[in-house]
Amino acid sequence: MSDIAISCRNVGKIWAKGTPRAHEALVGIDLEVAPGEFVVLLGPSGCGKSTLLYLAAGLEDNTSGELLSFGQPVEKPGPDRSLIFQETSLFPWLTVGENVTFGLHLAGVDKATRRKTADEVLQRVGLKAAIDKRPSELSGGMRQRVAVARALAMHPKVLLMDEPFAALDVQTRAKMQDFLVDVWRASEASVLFVTHHIDEAVALADRVAIFTARPGRIKEIVTVDLPRPRDPFSPEAQELRKHLTAVLSAEVDRAFAEQEALA
Ligand code: ADP
Repeated sequence: MSDIAISCRNVGKIWAKGTPRAHEALVGIDLEVAPGEFVVLLGPSGCGKSTLLYLAAGLEDNTSGELLSFGQPVEKPGPDRSLIFQETSLFPWLTVGENVTFGLHLAGVDKATRRKTADEVLQRVGLKAAIDKRPSELSGGMRQRVAVARALAMHPKVLLMDEPFAALDVQTRAKMQDFLVDVWRASEASVLFVTHHIDEAVALADRVAIFTARPGRIKEIVTVDLPRPRDPFSPEAQELRKHLTAVLSAEVDRAFAEQEALA
């Protein structure tokens, strides 16, 4: 078994391939994510970041190239790869603890073990006291923490995160980024994290893969050598922010021009 968590070799995706609505979203993606590594996919809206995440999750098939997880072709979703979306859908009629262990319930795990796991993962996201509450009693930030706990309950090797904090206010988002780094380091999982926010990439990434405008290609991969916990205002962080902004700006202009042409 390969020890590369996610390996993309020349991966491409054409939505609705072979139909008049065919739409090329990704071209020639080469990317390897190491075990325990935090990789951020950064690029303008519509450049194919989420598409790549769905391919890695096994929710969609790539139309060219090869996508492997720990040496195995990704063909369908699996408990080793958990996907967390921007808007978490928790079941409103279940308690927080029941939501967190819903996947274990489906897998036939008994109630006492589920409760123990819920206790443990909610503790890790700082929400142990909320185990018997309903989702409607929680704030947006707390609900996203429950989503992370639900993913952790399955002991994933890879966390796939699609702008998970985008709906939160700026202060809560910064707190959630700190929280995520702590949880990620304790879990030893790899993370593939989609964002269009440069600050988020600076706060989180071991490496940043910068995408071109659609069809998405990887324009540059930047290794982030900043110590953790990170000071977002250190000269090195400012320098990185400047570089990411420069590389991205041309792509944002291209994406904008394309959207105007389509309108
Ligand atoms: P990003 O996450 O970078 O904003 P997406 O991966 O969501 O970009 O989208 C990339 C391109 O693929 C866009 O042009 C989008 O319209 C298209 N796309 C996304 N999902 C689908 C789908 N289910 N069917 C057809 N086209 C899609």
